[in-house]
Amino acid sequence: MTTPTPTITSFEEFNLPEPIMACINALGFTAPTPVQAAVIPAAMQGGDWIVSAQTGSGKTAAFLLPALQHIWNSMRSGSNNPPDAPYALVICPTRELAQQVASDAINLIKGTKGLRVATVVGGTPYHKQRQDLKGAHLVIATPGRLVDWINQGGINLSRLHSLTLDEADRMLDLGFTDEINAIHEACEHRQQTLMFSATFTSRETRLASNLMLNPQHILLASSKEKHTNITQQLQWADNSHHQHQLLKHWLQDETMVQAVIFASTQVETDRLAKELESEGISAASLHGAMPQVLRNRRLDALRKNRIKVLVATDVAARGIDVPNITHVFNYGLPMKAEDYVHRIGRTGRAGRNGVAITFAQRGDAFKIRDIERYIERTIPVTTIEGLEPQLSAEDFKRSQGRGKPARGRAGSSGGYRGND
Ligand code: AMP
Repeated sequence: MTTPTPTITSFEEFNLPEPIMACINALGFTAPTPVQAAVIPAAMQGGDWIVSAQTGSGKTAAFLLPALQHIWNSMRSGSNNPPDAPYALVICPTRELAQQVASDAINLIKGTKGLRVATVVGGTPYHKQRQDLKGAHLVIATPGRLVDWINQGGINLSRLHSLTLDEADRMLDLGFTDEINAIHEACEHRQQTLMFSATFTSRETRLASNLMLNPQHILLASSKEKHTNITQQLQWADNSHHQHQLLKHWLQDETMVQAVIFASTQVETDRLAKELESEGISAASLHGAMPQVLRNRRLDALRKNRIKVLVATDVAARGIDVPNITHVFNYGLPMKAEDYVHRIGRTGRAGRNGVAITFAQRGDAFKIRDIERYIERTIPVTTIEGLEPQLSAEDFKRSQGRGKPARGRAGSSGGYRGND
């Protein structure tokens, strides 16, 4: 395992093509982030790499830049351009993340004439994707739709140089193992595999040993070190009404610019967004049962600051990269302790500060304990003057291990799967 101490301090040191450098400057990236300083030279040098890096660390450019440089060199060599098959493939667990990665890629290639990116995700028409795939150098895809194209013979992966798995832990959570294996087989002659994951447990190790050859490991984040720029707080609530009062108090805080509120179920996201709207707070919901067009429209509204608050389920919110998000609220607790880390990573993007507030009721004490064990720290308990709970923090915590989720809260409400 390598835990690098990067010595690279400027993008110039990567010898990237001039038009890509111009895009980096236009994006205002003055220096590589630690993950970029470690991964870009490693990936350019070749070989398979496992990277443990947290979301918001700049990991997208860390895998896109080496891929784009390789594509650029292939284009310059003059043969096979436009290509009859892509050179680089990135797979992402969710449509939103794939679209975010594609938009980052497009921002990095603005000055490179002829370099083409295709996004291949579910929920968008096949005929449009067929057009996009023609002559694409870089393909960014979700596993299900990509496997559809592979099975139909609609994509040729014989020239692929690199395969990148972004958020591999989440792809495993979502049960994409078979799809990943099918993709692996369809491009088994590739020269490089990169695997990014926030967590690295035995299941990711197993996946890596299936897909990679003598991978080296770059370790940039452990659950303990994560999110030091995010102030985390735990607020106990006596009941749902009290919890809603706490949330409303926070939403009126003048330091709050934009927020993501996590709910446990799709039903709850819709209900809460409507309730907030009726209370005069500009809010919208986002979850996996919505048509993709609507999901995109809502994300766009968040990005353009037309809505202040997005109420989302875990999976739908994955990949949301909006720098103005100052606050994350856990209104319904996550199903899994790891999701807590992913959720709070929606704020504090690119080194900014953020605030993450977790609301919990008595029956949630055991989930709080699991989260605190996972992050290896205690989340400080805070209260709001005039809205203090009737029980003390100790009373709430004393129910640890005995509590069950209260009716209608995390894991129990509403008819849909929480992690859509
Ligand atoms: P990511 O972890 O790839 O989702 O990136 C998180 C955020 O950091 C995105 O908004 C990127 O645009 C931004 N970012 C990536 N690299 C840099 C950099 N070198 N300097 C400043 N911001 C960056």
